[in-house]
Amino acid sequence: MKKKNRIDTNRVIFTREMRESGYKILMPTMIPRHLRMIAGILNAHGYDVEVLDNTGRDTIESGLRYVHNDTCYPAQICIGQFVRALESGKYDPNKCALLFSQTGGGCRASNYISLLRKALAKAGYGHVPVISLNFSAGMEKNPGFRLTLPMLRRMVYAVLYGDMIMLLENQCRPYEINAGESLAVSERLTRELSAQLGRRGRLPYREIKRTFAEIVRAYDAIPRRDEKRLRVGIVGEIFVKFSPLANNSLEQFLIDEGAEPVVPGFLGFAQYCVYNSIMDAKLYGRGKKTLPLFRFAHKFILGKQNDMIRAVTENSSFMPPADFEVTRRLAEEFIGLGVKMGEGWLLPGEMLDLIHSGVTSIVCTQPFGCLPNHIVGKGMMKPLREKYPDANIVAVDYDASATVINQQNRIKLMLANGREIAERREREEKEREASAPEECPVS
Ligand code: SF4
Repeated sequence: MKKKNRIDTNRVIFTREMRESGYKILMPTMIPRHLRMIAGILNAHGYDVEVLDNTGRDTIESGLRYVHNDTCYPAQICIGQFVRALESGKYDPNKCALLFSQTGGGCRASNYISLLRKALAKAGYGHVPVISLNFSAGMEKNPGFRLTLPMLRRMVYAVLYGDMIMLLENQCRPYEINAGESLAVSERLTRELSAQLGRRGRLPYREIKRTFAEIVRAYDAIPRRDEKRLRVGIVGEIFVKFSPLANNSLEQFLIDEGAEPVVPGFLGFAQYCVYNSIMDAKLYGRGKKTLPLFRFAHKFILGKQNDMIRAVTENSSFMPPADFEVTRRLAEEFIGLGVKMGEGWLLPGEMLDLIHSGVTSIVCTQPFGCLPNHIVGKGMMKPLREKYPDANIVAVDYDASATVINQQNRIKLMLANGREIAERREREEKEREASAPEECPVS
């Protein structure tokens, strides 16, 4: 049997027959708008995918019941969400499958899937097939689940759209005059874009580019207050960074505290994963056969990202998303690009990007006990502060037993420091302007 098509017969396989007989495929909530659009693409190709929306404390409790409490917090949450959904009575556990990502890296995220199977067996759902969503040769495959190149291309567009929505919504929501308008625009766009991406037939790229500009204009039309707020970056472990369930609605908390959240997009993480495969070949001679494919993917995504950045800068005064190549070069000054456990070099790269864009106050979200991200997150703060003394970064741990009050107090302290720094810089700027020699009039 060839390694790349290996099927482990000890696990429950998701078969073609299951797909054809209308099995419901459930996905955990991490970054809901992106995933809803991805689900739209899968559904247009004959799947019946649903992004779970069950949240709340009982989800976390369920995770704790079936997963050891020293396992990564993202695994506890996702597994808890799956088990709660199966227990809810909303779905038929005999006609359900679960879709879970498998990174294939050296970190524990590659093993979440076996933890999920163990939890399902304990909870009495051992017969439910688990589909691994991975892009690595040699990892689990299922005959009933196949991603084609056109589907993958549309998934890249879904991530670009999702990132744009997140980026622009965060720049409008804190300033909107009519409460709830930005969220309503995001909801409408998510619905319309899911339909566009799920449409059968051709989807020319010029239509995608046109849509980029339309998205920007939709947010730019929202009436906003002319107000200056402290911009606060959110970086960290990918799940805790994005999932409101995992980070106790961090974006909302920052808005309530009078700040503007700035969240680097999901595309950066996808580009980081692709780039890591290129680095594997360069540094360790691994995966030379698939190298041209990853090089192509890297160039393809980069080109689309540049179009997205252009759409934002040409159609508005919104802050554009980061350019991956800039992030990579900034990170390289501080850390080797072979550091790729967890979020690896991307994490300090995103902090540096934010600092260079004037966002010096940053929350670094970390699952408690996540060693790789403590090293590339907390561990990188000292060298960053040495070069950028105004960098005002706070590392916040998240897990099932962490108290929200503790997390919020640490963030409030960071916000107070951030405001002091901003005031001082404004003062210094004014003094500089006042002491600058007057220009000679040119005759
Ligand atoms: S990055 Fe951290 S949270 Fe994610 S799998 Fe690795 S140790 Fe767990």
